[in-house]
Amino acid sequence: MIEVKNIVKAYGDKYAVNDISFKIEPGEIVGFLGPNGAGKSTTMNILTGYLSATSGTAYIDGIDILEDPTEAKKRIGFLPEQPPLYMDMTVKEYLEFVYDLKGCKFPRKEHLQEICQLIKIEDVYNRMIKNLSKGYRQRVGFAQALVGNPPILILDEPTVGLDPRQIIEIRNLIKKLGKKHTVILSTHILQEVQAVCDRIIVINKGQLVADGNAEQLTYKTAGNRRLVARIAGGKTEIKKAIRAMDGVLAADELGQKEQGTTDFLIECQPSVDIRKPLFRMLAERGWPLMGLKSMDMSLEDVFVSLIANEGGAEA
Ligand code: ADP
Ligand code: MG
Repeated sequence: MIEVKNIVKAYGDKYAVNDISFKIEPGEIVGFLGPNGAGKSTTMNILTGYLSATSGTAYIDGIDILEDPTEAKKRIGFLPEQPPLYMDMTVKEYLEFVYDLKGCKFPRKEHLQEICQLIKIEDVYNRMIKNLSKGYRQRVGFAQALVGNPPILILDEPTVGLDPRQIIEIRNLIKKLGKKHTVILSTHILQEVQAVCDRIIVINKGQLVADGNAEQLTYKTAGNRRLVARIAGGKTEIKKAIRAMDGVLAADELGQKEQGTTDFLIECQPSVDIRKPLFRMLAERGWPLMGLKSMDMSLEDVFVSLIANEGGAEA
């Protein structure tokens, strides 16, 4: 449904986006997660036809956004980082304006009414936008994105600047919209993608550094890199033997938690799964393995390590 292929956006000798590719299937709710300046808005603006790419292509339902922006845009409802609201219009005037702009074909009154019910802005329908709270303005931004009932919604930092109660309301609204639309939302807040999204695309310094659901990201990044093993036997000998194994970076005693055993924290190279060779080595040496578990890395830890290690925006 959405395909981004090798998108690059350069400003002078700096890359805002540097070779990003991904595909999104119908019905997905995808979180575009990255710190400020990662290239989220740039990617979304390119995807929605609001900005041209230096190179690369984006397809919406097989339509090249550069070749046929009008057709592609009909399939997208876009809520930009700064919603394009006209302060001196009432909500009604504004939504009617958007309706005309999009050349919408649904019966006007019913269509706009339906959206206002869904978004819960009926009670401010005749108020001037400038007199609305930030939370209501954001809702009006959502409403304009929904005019024409596009199958895809692209939301750039939809909860920025809202208070905690409004944030929860907007997240619930996104989940609701996700039942009928394909949704891409960008955020720099990890909890937001955890609360709302099925899939997370992490970008940093203009590059895609991870793509998957929360478990996949945690596994891929943390894997079995850190294990705690409880082993019975002489601790000095055991430590020496573990440290000598291929792929082991460190092995340290955590202390005695159970009579006659020692807990060790074992750190391995990222690509190495040490569990089988460890089991065999200990069995051969006559040291019973009494317990083995992965040190769980939270998604927070994973995100921090992803954005610390990867990328490179400078040309
Ligand atoms: P995000 O939305 O993830 O915070 P942006 O896509 O807005 O990031 O920006 C990515 C990078 O590109 C940033 O370093 C930003 O300063 C730079 N950038 C964005 N727009 C422009 C522009 N018009 N001219 C120069 N640099 C830009
Ligand atoms: Mg942004």
